[in-house]
Amino acid sequence: MDFAWSAAQSALYKKFSEFAQKELGHDLAERDRQQVFDQAGWLRCGEMGLTGMCAPSQFGGGGYDALDMVAALEGLGYGSKDNGLNFSIGAHLWGTVTPLSLFGDPQQKDNYLPRLCSGEWAGALAATEAEAGSDIYSMKSKAVKLADGYSLSGEKIMITNAPIAQVFIVIARLEGAEPNKDLCAFLVEKGAPGLQVSPSVEKMGLRTAQMGSLVLNDCHIPFENLLGAEGNGTVLFAQAMEWERGLILAPALGTMQRQLEVCKARVRNRRQFGQPIGQFQRVADKIVDMYLHLESSRAFIRKFAWLKSNKRTAQMEASAAKLHTSEAWIAVSQAALQIHGGMGYLTENEIEHDLRDALGSRIYSGTSEIQRQIISHWLA
Ligand SMILES: Cc1cc2nc3c(=O)[nH]c(=O)nc-3n(C[C@H](O)[C@H](O)[C@H](O)COP(=O)(O)OP(=O)(O)OC[C@H]3O[C@@H](n4cnc5c(N)ncnc54)[C@H](O)[C@@H]3O)c2cc1C
Repeated sequence: MDFAWSAAQSALYKKFSEFAQKELGHDLAERDRQQVFDQAGWLRCGEMGLTGMCAPSQFGGGGYDALDMVAALEGLGYGSKDNGLNFSIGAHLWGTVTPLSLFGDPQQKDNYLPRLCSGEWAGALAATEAEAGSDIYSMKSKAVKLADGYSLSGEKIMITNAPIAQVFIVIARLEGAEPNKDLCAFLVEKGAPGLQVSPSVEKMGLRTAQMGSLVLNDCHIPFENLLGAEGNGTVLFAQAMEWERGLILAPALGTMQRQLEVCKARVRNRRQFGQPIGQFQRVADKIVDMYLHLESSRAFIRKFAWLKSNKRTAQMEASAAKLHTSEAWIAVSQAALQIHGGMGYLTENEIEHDLRDALGSRIYSGTSEIQRQIISHWLA
Protein backbone atom coordinates (compact mmCIF):
# COMPACT_ATOMS: atom_id res chain seq x y z
CA MET A 1 0.00 0.00 0.00
CA ASP A 2 1.35 3.41 -0.97
CA PHE A 3 0.70 6.10 1.62
CA ALA A 4 2.25 8.94 -0.38
CA TRP A 5 0.11 11.57 -2.07
CA SER A 6 0.45 11.77 -5.84
CA ALA A 7 2.01 14.97 -7.20
CA ALA A 8 -1.50 16.21 -8.08
CA GLN A 9 -2.80 15.52 -4.56
CA SER A 10 0.19 17.28 -2.98
CA ALA A 11 -0.54 20.24 -5.23
CA LEU A 12 -4.19 20.26 -4.05
CA TYR A 13 -3.09 20.20 -0.42
CA LYS A 14 -0.69 23.09 -1.04
CA LYS A 15 -3.19 25.10 -3.05
CA PHE A 16 -5.95 24.89 -0.44
CA SER A 17 -3.77 25.26 2.64
CA GLU A 18 -2.17 28.42 1.19
CA PHE A 19 -5.54 29.81 0.11
CA ALA A 20 -7.09 29.13 3.52
CA GLN A 21 -4.12 30.58 5.41
CA LYS A 22 -4.31 33.77 3.41
CA GLU A 23 -8.05 34.31 3.09
CA LEU A 24 -9.98 32.41 5.78
CA GLY A 25 -10.22 32.28 9.54
CA HIS A 26 -9.67 35.99 10.24
CA ASP A 27 -11.16 37.60 13.38
CA LEU A 28 -12.15 34.14 14.50
CA ALA A 29 -12.43 34.77 18.25
CA GLU A 30 -14.81 37.67 17.64
CA ARG A 31 -16.85 35.95 14.92
CA ASP A 32 -17.08 32.85 17.11
CA ARG A 33 -18.36 34.98 20.00
CA GLN A 34 -20.95 36.67 17.74
CA GLN A 35 -21.75 33.49 15.74
CA VAL A 36 -20.91 35.20 12.43
CA PHE A 37 -20.74 33.05 9.30
CA ASP A 38 -18.00 34.04 6.82
CA GLN A 39 -20.15 34.70 3.75
CA ALA A 40 -17.30 36.27 1.76
CA GLY A 41 -15.06 33.32 2.66
CA TRP A 42 -17.77 30.89 1.55
CA LEU A 43 -18.00 32.58 -1.84
CA ARG A 44 -14.21 32.47 -2.21
CA CYS A 45 -14.32 28.75 -1.35
CA GLY A 46 -16.86 28.45 -4.18
CA GLU A 47 -14.56 30.24 -6.61
CA MET A 48 -11.71 27.95 -5.57
CA GLY A 49 -13.83 24.86 -6.27
CA LEU A 50 -14.29 23.66 -2.69
CA THR A 51 -18.11 23.80 -2.64
CA GLY A 52 -18.46 21.57 -5.70
CA MET A 53 -15.43 19.30 -5.59
CA CYS A 54 -17.46 16.07 -5.40
CA ALA A 55 -19.81 16.82 -8.33
CA PRO A 56 -19.21 15.85 -11.97
CA SER A 57 -17.39 18.50 -13.98
CA GLN A 58 -20.15 18.79 -16.62
CA PHE A 59 -22.38 20.29 -13.90
CA GLY A 60 -19.80 22.76 -12.63
CA GLY A 61 -18.18 20.42 -10.11
CA GLY A 62 -14.55 19.49 -9.64
CA GLY A 63 -14.96 15.80 -10.48
CA TYR A 64 -12.48 14.99 -7.71
CA ASP A 65 -11.88 11.45 -6.65
CA ALA A 66 -12.24 10.65 -2.93
CA LEU A 67 -8.49 10.75 -2.21
CA ASP A 68 -8.19 14.10 -4.00
CA MET A 69 -10.97 15.40 -1.77
CA VAL A 70 -9.12 14.30 1.36
CA ALA A 71 -5.99 16.14 0.16
CA ALA A 72 -7.97 19.33 -0.56
CA LEU A 73 -9.98 19.22 2.69
CA GLU A 74 -6.94 18.43 4.80
CA GLY A 75 -5.31 21.50 3.25
CA LEU A 76 -8.38 23.58 4.09
CA GLY A 77 -8.30 22.45 7.73
CA TYR A 78 -4.57 23.08 8.01
CA GLY A 79 -4.82 26.56 6.60
CA SER A 80 -7.95 27.83 8.36
CA LYS A 81 -8.96 27.80 12.01
CA ASP A 82 -12.58 28.41 11.07
CA ASN A 83 -13.92 24.94 11.85
CA GLY A 84 -17.49 26.27 11.51
CA LEU A 85 -16.93 27.25 7.87
CA ASN A 86 -15.22 23.92 7.17
CA PHE A 87 -18.22 22.14 8.69
CA SER A 88 -20.69 24.19 6.62
CA ILE A 89 -18.81 23.18 3.48
CA GLY A 90 -18.97 19.53 4.56
CA ALA A 91 -22.73 19.65 5.29
CA HIS A 92 -23.26 21.23 1.86
CA LEU A 93 -21.02 18.73 0.00
CA TRP A 94 -22.14 15.49 1.64
CA GLY A 95 -25.73 16.44 2.48
CA THR A 96 -26.73 18.10 -0.78
CA VAL A 97 -24.20 18.06 -3.64
CA THR A 98 -23.44 14.34 -3.24
CA PRO A 99 -27.07 13.06 -3.14
CA LEU A 100 -27.93 15.34 -6.07
CA SER A 101 -24.95 13.99 -8.03
CA LEU A 102 -25.89 10.39 -7.20
CA PHE A 103 -29.69 10.51 -7.45
CA GLY A 104 -30.61 13.62 -9.45
CA ASP A 105 -32.09 13.30 -12.93
CA PRO A 106 -30.37 15.33 -15.70
CA GLN A 107 -32.79 18.22 -15.29
CA GLN A 108 -32.30 18.41 -11.51
CA LYS A 109 -28.53 18.27 -11.92
CA ASP A 110 -28.65 21.00 -14.56
CA ASN A 111 -30.91 23.12 -12.45
CA TYR A 112 -29.21 22.84 -9.04
CA LEU A 113 -25.63 21.65 -9.28
CA PRO A 114 -23.98 24.60 -11.06
CA ARG A 115 -25.28 27.08 -8.47
CA LEU A 116 -24.43 24.77 -5.54
CA CYS A 117 -20.96 24.02 -6.91
CA SER A 118 -20.09 27.67 -7.46
CA GLY A 119 -21.16 28.51 -3.90
CA GLU A 120 -23.82 30.93 -5.18
CA TRP A 121 -26.27 28.62 -3.38
CA ALA A 122 -25.77 26.73 -0.13
CA GLY A 123 -27.53 23.43 0.52
CA ALA A 124 -28.75 21.61 3.63
CA LEU A 125 -29.96 18.09 4.40
CA ALA A 126 -33.01 18.05 6.67
CA ALA A 127 -33.61 14.71 8.37
CA THR A 128 -33.57 15.13 12.17
CA GLU A 129 -36.82 15.75 14.06
CA ALA A 130 -37.54 16.36 17.74
CA GLU A 131 -38.59 12.71 18.21
CA ALA A 132 -36.31 11.19 15.56
CA GLY A 133 -32.59 11.71 16.19
CA SER A 134 -30.51 8.53 16.45
CA ASP A 135 -33.67 6.61 15.53
CA ILE A 136 -33.81 8.60 12.31
CA TYR A 137 -36.03 6.24 10.36
CA SER A 138 -38.85 6.83 12.86
CA MET A 139 -39.32 10.33 11.44
CA LYS A 140 -42.90 11.62 11.12
CA SER A 141 -42.70 14.38 8.50
CA LYS A 142 -45.10 13.41 5.79
CA ALA A 143 -45.63 13.93 2.09
CA VAL A 144 -49.07 13.74 0.54
CA LYS A 145 -49.31 13.10 -3.19
CA LEU A 146 -51.64 15.54 -4.93
CA ALA A 147 -52.74 15.90 -8.56
CA ASP A 148 -49.97 18.40 -9.31
CA GLY A 149 -47.18 17.55 -6.87
CA TYR A 150 -46.52 16.81 -3.19
CA SER A 151 -47.55 18.58 -0.01
CA LEU A 152 -44.97 18.32 2.80
CA SER A 153 -45.73 18.79 6.50
CA GLY A 154 -43.53 18.40 9.55
CA GLU A 155 -40.70 19.98 11.47
CA LYS A 156 -36.95 19.44 11.10
CA ILE A 157 -34.45 20.56 13.74
CA MET A 158 -30.69 21.12 14.08
CA ILE A 159 -30.20 21.55 10.34
CA THR A 160 -26.72 22.81 9.46
CA ASN A 161 -26.76 25.67 6.93
CA ALA A 162 -30.57 26.08 7.20
CA PRO A 163 -30.47 29.87 7.69
CA ILE A 164 -28.16 30.37 4.67
CA ALA A 165 -29.44 27.61 2.38
CA GLN A 166 -31.31 28.21 -0.88
CA VAL A 167 -32.18 24.54 -1.29
CA PHE A 168 -32.96 21.75 1.17
CA ILE A 169 -33.11 18.02 0.71
CA VAL A 170 -36.01 17.11 2.98
CA ILE A 171 -36.62 13.48 3.94
CA ALA A 172 -40.28 12.66 4.58
CA ARG A 173 -42.68 9.74 4.67
CA LEU A 174 -45.04 9.30 1.72
CA GLU A 175 -48.60 8.86 2.97
CA GLY A 176 -50.23 5.66 1.81
CA ALA A 177 -46.99 3.98 0.67
CA GLU A 178 -45.97 0.57 1.96
CA PRO A 179 -44.30 0.86 5.42
CA ASN A 180 -40.48 0.68 5.23
CA LYS A 181 -40.69 1.73 1.57
CA ASP A 182 -42.22 5.12 2.20
CA LEU A 183 -39.26 7.45 2.81
CA CYS A 184 -38.64 9.91 0.00
CA ALA A 185 -36.23 12.79 -0.58
CA PHE A 186 -37.56 16.13 -1.85
CA LEU A 187 -35.82 19.24 -3.14
CA VAL A 188 -37.38 22.21 -1.41
CA GLU A 189 -36.29 25.71 -2.30
CA LYS A 190 -36.08 28.59 0.13
CA GLY A 191 -39.24 30.64 -0.25
CA ALA A 192 -41.45 27.66 -1.17
CA PRO A 193 -45.00 28.38 0.05
CA GLY A 194 -45.50 26.75 3.47
CA LEU A 195 -41.78 26.58 4.33
CA GLN A 196 -40.54 28.53 7.32
CA VAL A 197 -36.85 28.61 8.28
CA SER A 198 -35.77 29.76 11.74
CA PRO A 199 -32.91 32.15 12.44
CA SER A 200 -29.66 30.50 13.53
CA VAL A 201 -29.74 28.90 16.99
CA GLU A 202 -26.95 29.33 19.53
CA LYS A 203 -24.64 26.38 20.12
CA MET A 204 -21.55 25.39 22.10
CA GLY A 205 -19.09 25.05 19.21
CA LEU A 206 -18.88 25.39 15.44
CA ARG A 207 -20.42 28.75 16.18
CA THR A 208 -19.48 30.28 12.84
CA ALA A 209 -21.64 27.65 11.09
CA GLN A 210 -25.33 28.44 10.94
CA MET A 211 -27.94 25.97 12.20
CA GLY A 212 -31.72 26.24 12.24
CA SER A 213 -35.02 24.42 12.05
CA LEU A 214 -37.59 24.10 9.27
CA VAL A 215 -41.34 24.09 9.62
CA LEU A 216 -43.17 22.64 6.62
CA ASN A 217 -46.83 23.47 6.71
CA ASP A 218 -48.61 22.08 3.66
CA CYS A 219 -45.51 23.03 1.67
CA HIS A 220 -46.38 22.46 -1.95
CA ILE A 221 -43.67 21.31 -4.39
CA PRO A 222 -43.94 20.04 -7.98
CA PHE A 223 -43.46 16.37 -8.95
CA GLU A 224 -40.09 17.15 -10.54
CA ASN A 225 -38.69 18.00 -7.09
CA LEU A 226 -38.79 14.38 -5.96
CA LEU A 227 -35.11 13.36 -5.74
CA GLY A 228 -34.69 9.73 -6.81
CA ALA A 229 -37.70 7.45 -7.03
CA GLU A 230 -40.54 7.30 -4.50
CA GLY A 231 -39.40 5.09 -1.61
CA ASN A 232 -35.72 5.79 -2.30
CA GLY A 233 -35.25 8.04 0.74
CA THR A 234 -33.65 5.37 2.92
CA VAL A 235 -31.04 4.43 0.31
CA LEU A 236 -30.33 8.07 -0.53
CA PHE A 237 -29.91 9.00 3.13
CA ALA A 238 -27.68 5.97 3.78
CA GLN A 239 -25.42 6.83 0.83
CA ALA A 240 -25.20 10.49 1.86
CA MET A 241 -24.27 9.36 5.38
CA GLU A 242 -21.62 6.98 4.07
CA TRP A 243 -19.83 9.88 2.34
CA GLU A 244 -20.48 12.28 5.19
CA ARG A 245 -19.18 9.95 7.90
CA GLY A 246 -16.16 9.06 5.80
CA LEU A 247 -15.09 12.60 4.91
CA ILE A 248 -16.77 15.20 7.17
CA LEU A 249 -13.70 15.11 9.42
CA ALA A 250 -11.10 15.26 6.63
CA PRO A 251 -10.50 18.97 7.44
CA ALA A 252 -9.86 17.95 11.08
CA LEU A 253 -6.77 16.06 9.88
CA GLY A 254 -5.30 19.37 8.78
CA THR A 255 -6.50 21.01 11.99
CA MET A 256 -4.82 18.32 14.11
CA GLN A 257 -1.60 18.69 12.07
CA ARG A 258 -1.61 22.42 12.82
CA GLN A 259 -2.46 21.85 16.50
CA LEU A 260 0.48 19.43 16.75
CA GLU A 261 2.88 21.91 15.15
CA VAL A 262 1.70 24.78 17.37
CA CYS A 263 2.11 22.59 20.46
CA LYS A 264 5.58 21.39 19.42
CA ALA A 265 6.69 25.01 19.13
CA ARG A 266 5.08 25.87 22.46
CA VAL A 267 6.77 23.10 24.43
CA ARG A 268 10.14 24.09 22.96
CA ASN A 269 9.76 27.76 23.78
CA ARG A 270 7.85 27.81 27.06
CA ARG A 271 10.24 27.46 29.99
CA GLN A 272 9.30 26.54 33.54
CA PHE A 273 11.60 25.32 36.33
CA GLY A 274 14.50 26.55 34.21
CA GLN A 275 13.90 24.34 31.16
CA PRO A 276 11.57 23.98 28.15
CA ILE A 277 8.36 22.26 29.30
CA GLY A 278 8.79 19.72 26.46
CA GLN A 279 11.66 18.23 28.46
CA PHE A 280 9.19 17.08 31.11
CA GLN A 281 8.22 13.57 30.14
CA ARG A 282 4.54 14.10 31.04
CA VAL A 283 4.36 16.99 28.57
CA ALA A 284 6.33 15.15 25.85
CA ASP A 285 3.92 12.21 26.19
CA LYS A 286 1.05 14.50 25.24
CA ILE A 287 2.84 15.42 22.02
CA VAL A 288 3.37 11.74 21.27
CA ASP A 289 -0.32 11.00 21.87
CA MET A 290 -1.35 13.89 19.58
CA TYR A 291 0.82 12.44 16.83
CA LEU A 292 -0.69 8.96 17.30
CA HIS A 293 -4.25 10.32 17.21
CA LEU A 294 -3.49 12.24 14.01
CA GLU A 295 -1.76 9.43 12.14
CA SER A 296 -4.35 6.79 13.08
CA SER A 297 -7.16 9.15 11.96
CA ARG A 298 -5.34 9.72 8.67
CA ALA A 299 -5.16 5.96 8.15
CA PHE A 300 -8.92 5.52 8.77
CA ILE A 301 -9.98 8.39 6.50
CA ARG A 302 -7.56 7.53 3.70
CA LYS A 303 -8.63 3.87 3.81
CA PHE A 304 -12.25 4.98 3.41
CA ALA A 305 -11.27 7.29 0.54
CA TRP A 306 -9.21 4.57 -1.13
CA LEU A 307 -12.21 2.18 -0.99
CA LYS A 308 -14.52 4.81 -2.49
CA SER A 309 -11.92 5.66 -5.17
CA ASN A 310 -12.06 1.99 -6.07
CA LYS A 311 -15.89 2.08 -6.25
CA ARG A 312 -16.34 -0.06 -3.16
CA THR A 313 -19.01 0.16 -0.47
CA ALA A 314 -17.46 1.37 2.77
CA GLN A 315 -20.23 1.85 5.31
CA MET A 316 -18.36 0.23 8.16
CA GLU A 317 -15.15 2.08 7.28
CA ALA A 318 -17.11 5.36 7.12
CA SER A 319 -18.41 4.78 10.65
CA ALA A 320 -14.95 3.78 11.85
CA ALA A 321 -13.39 6.90 10.30
CA LYS A 322 -16.03 9.14 11.89
CA LEU A 323 -15.90 7.46 15.30
CA HIS A 324 -12.13 7.33 15.52
CA THR A 325 -11.41 10.81 14.14
CA SER A 326 -14.03 12.56 16.27
CA GLU A 327 -12.64 11.00 19.45
CA ALA A 328 -9.07 11.71 18.26
CA TRP A 329 -9.84 15.37 17.51
CA ILE A 330 -11.35 15.83 20.97
CA ALA A 331 -8.28 14.23 22.59
CA VAL A 332 -5.88 16.36 20.51
CA SER A 333 -7.81 19.54 21.34
CA GLN A 334 -7.79 18.69 25.04
CA ALA A 335 -4.04 18.06 24.93
CA ALA A 336 -3.44 21.35 23.07
CA LEU A 337 -5.41 23.21 25.75
CA GLN A 338 -3.49 21.55 28.57
CA ILE A 339 -0.10 22.15 26.95
CA HIS A 340 -0.89 25.87 26.65
CA GLY A 341 -2.00 26.10 30.28
CA GLY A 342 -3.90 29.28 31.17
CA MET A 343 -3.01 30.89 27.84
CA GLY A 344 -4.91 28.12 26.09
CA TYR A 345 -7.98 28.77 28.19
CA LEU A 346 -8.17 32.43 27.14
CA THR A 347 -10.51 32.81 24.16
CA GLU A 348 -8.38 35.48 22.46
CA ASN A 349 -5.58 32.95 21.86
CA GLU A 350 -7.86 30.84 19.63
CA ILE A 351 -6.90 27.51 21.20
CA GLU A 352 -9.97 26.63 23.29
CA HIS A 353 -12.53 26.86 20.47
CA ASP A 354 -11.07 23.71 18.85
CA LEU A 355 -12.23 21.67 21.84
CA ARG A 356 -15.74 23.16 21.72
CA ASP A 357 -15.84 22.59 17.95
CA ALA A 358 -14.52 19.04 18.20
CA LEU A 359 -17.10 17.95 20.78
CA GLY A 360 -19.92 18.34 18.25
CA SER A 361 -18.28 15.72 16.04
CA ARG A 362 -19.27 13.03 18.53
CA ILE A 363 -22.92 13.89 17.86
CA TYR A 364 -23.56 14.94 14.25
CA SER A 365 -23.89 12.43 11.37
CA GLY A 366 -24.80 9.83 14.00
CA THR A 367 -23.41 9.79 17.54
CA SER A 368 -20.34 7.79 18.58
CA GLU A 369 -22.69 5.24 20.18
CA ILE A 370 -24.55 4.79 16.89
CA GLN A 371 -21.27 4.45 14.95
CA ARG A 372 -20.27 1.67 17.37
CA GLN A 373 -23.64 0.00 16.79
CA ILE A 374 -23.11 0.12 13.01
CA ILE A 375 -19.55 -1.22 13.24
CA SER A 376 -20.63 -4.06 15.55
CA HIS A 377 -23.41 -4.94 13.09
CA TRP A 378 -20.85 -5.24 10.24
CA LEU A 379 -18.40 -7.17 12.40
CA ALA A 380 -21.00 -9.66 13.67
C1 LIG B 1 -23.44 20.26 15.13
C2 LIG B 1 -24.60 19.45 14.66
C3 LIG B 1 -24.99 19.51 13.33
C4 LIG B 1 -26.09 18.78 12.88
N1 LIG B 1 -26.50 18.90 11.57
C5 LIG B 1 -27.58 18.22 11.13
C6 LIG B 1 -28.05 18.37 9.78
O1 LIG B 1 -27.48 19.11 8.98
N2 LIG B 1 -29.16 17.67 9.38
C7 LIG B 1 -29.82 16.84 10.24
O2 LIG B 1 -30.81 16.24 9.80
N3 LIG B 1 -29.42 16.68 11.53
C8 LIG B 1 -28.32 17.35 11.99
N4 LIG B 1 -27.90 17.23 13.31
C9 LIG B 1 -28.64 16.35 14.21
C10 LIG B 1 -27.86 15.08 14.54
O3 LIG B 1 -27.85 14.22 13.43
C11 LIG B 1 -28.49 14.44 15.79
O4 LIG B 1 -28.26 15.32 16.88
C12 LIG B 1 -27.88 13.08 16.11
O5 LIG B 1 -28.21 12.12 15.12
C13 LIG B 1 -28.35 12.54 17.48
O6 LIG B 1 -29.72 12.62 17.64
P1 LIG B 1 -30.34 13.34 18.95
O7 LIG B 1 -29.66 14.66 19.10
O8 LIG B 1 -31.81 13.33 18.83
O9 LIG B 1 -29.87 12.44 20.18
P2 LIG B 1 -30.62 11.14 20.73
O10 LIG B 1 -30.93 10.22 19.61
O11 LIG B 1 -31.73 11.56 21.62
O12 LIG B 1 -29.47 10.48 21.59
C14 LIG B 1 -29.19 10.87 22.93
C15 LIG B 1 -28.13 9.92 23.48
O13 LIG B 1 -28.63 8.57 23.48
C16 LIG B 1 -27.74 7.74 22.76
N5 LIG B 1 -28.48 6.70 22.04
C17 LIG B 1 -29.62 6.81 21.30
N6 LIG B 1 -29.95 5.63 20.76
C18 LIG B 1 -29.02 4.75 21.15
C19 LIG B 1 -28.77 3.38 20.91
N7 LIG B 1 -29.59 2.64 20.11
N8 LIG B 1 -27.69 2.78 21.47
C20 LIG B 1 -26.84 3.51 22.24
N9 LIG B 1 -27.00 4.82 22.51
C21 LIG B 1 -28.07 5.43 21.95
C22 LIG B 1 -27.04 8.67 21.77
O14 LIG B 1 -25.82 8.11 21.29
C23 LIG B 1 -26.86 9.90 22.62
O15 LIG B 1 -25.72 9.78 23.42
C24 LIG B 1 -26.80 17.95 13.78
C25 LIG B 1 -26.39 17.87 15.13
C26 LIG B 1 -25.31 18.61 15.56
C27 LIG B 1 -24.89 18.53 17.01
